[in-house]
Amino acid sequence: MDFDPTDEQRLIRDTVRRFAEQEIMPVAAGNDRAGRFPRELVNRMAAMGFLGGPIPKEYGGSGLDYISHAIITEEVGRADSSLRTTLSVQVSLVALSLVRWGTEEQKRRYLPELCAGRLLGCFGLTEPNAGSDPSGMETTAIKRGDRWVLNGTKTWISNATVAGLALVFAQTDPGKGHDGIAAFLVEKGSRGFSTHPITEKLGLRASDTGELIFEDCTVPDSALLGPSGHGFKVAMSALDNGRYSVAAGCVGIIQGCLDACTEYAKTRKQFGRPIGSFQLVQDMIARMAVDLDAARLLVFRAGHLKDHGLPHTVETSIAKYFASEAAVRAATDAVQIFGAYGYSEEAPVARYYRDAKVATIYEGTSQIQKLLIGSHLLGIRAFT
Ligand SMILES: Cc1cc2nc3c(=O)[nH]c(=O)nc-3n(C[C@H](O)[C@H](O)[C@H](O)COP(=O)(O)OP(=O)(O)OC[C@H]3O[C@@H](n4cnc5c(N)ncnc54)[C@H](O)[C@@H]3O)c2cc1C
Repeated sequence: MDFDPTDEQRLIRDTVRRFAEQEIMPVAAGNDRAGRFPRELVNRMAAMGFLGGPIPKEYGGSGLDYISHAIITEEVGRADSSLRTTLSVQVSLVALSLVRWGTEEQKRRYLPELCAGRLLGCFGLTEPNAGSDPSGMETTAIKRGDRWVLNGTKTWISNATVAGLALVFAQTDPGKGHDGIAAFLVEKGSRGFSTHPITEKLGLRASDTGELIFEDCTVPDSALLGPSGHGFKVAMSALDNGRYSVAAGCVGIIQGCLDACTEYAKTRKQFGRPIGSFQLVQDMIARMAVDLDAARLLVFRAGHLKDHGLPHTVETSIAKYFASEAAVRAATDAVQIFGAYGYSEEAPVARYYRDAKVATIYEGTSQIQKLLIGSHLLGIRAFT
């Protein structure tokens, strides 16, 4: 593994950072306060090629390696986790699932639109009674001739009300558990498909979150993504990509906290000295720096494996678990270092504090990541 970024990766980091500092950061706090999903910024990101990241060029993508994709995601995450969530869902959960499982017709129909940002995607796995255990899903898909009839509700879905395409999972045969699950591509406007927003969240307030509701929603056979019965595999492969992206976004949060804290600790004075001269403050900053390096290297290790087509599920869980918990630690200490100012929405770190927590919950909680890692090490499944 080469620790030096390539010239292209360096250029990508500089370009995305400049974009993030000039276009995302100035409006992030306002969008957060207003709970406003910044559709125009998503378009701008698409125009910059960020939404095409690792998608092959023949389908309208940028054809980048996974390390470059992590760099883009990290820099967007440093600026705004709400927007980073949209990026993660669009590219990692939806577009990359199409690349892996789609028919040629599905790829040609949806990927160029997704990469260009003309179409937004969402990923509907979670249900009111099925979160950590998706095999308990209650949404059903019943075959009627050459069509499928979907019934059920997905909840806590990012991009739910703004997406034109929903990748949705449903049970085709409750007796079969995992093996009965199928994945469907459901277009907005399909009869019997509606959405409902979820508001008043702790964080990610500029990210669109909501429910997907299916009431006798009928889709053609061609809406299946992957074979019927392979839906669980589709979901798990999507989460491999999604967790990688979440971990990279968390590296951005830690970097943002470290940048803000080193600057503030040098200028804020107490007892006649900069607070950065106190060893207990340096302790928090040093821990952030160590967590930053460790999280970034874990993400790059997973990216390196992905780029070489090697197994990476456990390494991705390790990166996601560590980076998300480290982001919460960094944001907590950042608020501490900023004191009362950190407790105010005027300081940049309050938003990091509210936004970091969700990364330990979505795309598999920290507990689920630890069970995946433990099961792998022990050779004993922690799940039934
Ligand atoms: C802002 C936001 C955006 C989201 N976006 C999406 C999205 O786009 N698509 C989507 O499908 N979902 C999305 N989710 C849902 C998310 O993936 C789920 O919340 C997550 O998988 C956890 O499920 P749950 O909330 O039902 O918690 P539960 O599964 O009910 O878990 C509750 C607690 O129990 C623990 N727990 C559960 N099982 C075990 C076990 N076996 N051992 C030990 N502890 C356990 C969990 O770790 C957790 O601490 C989003 C959630 C949020 C908050």
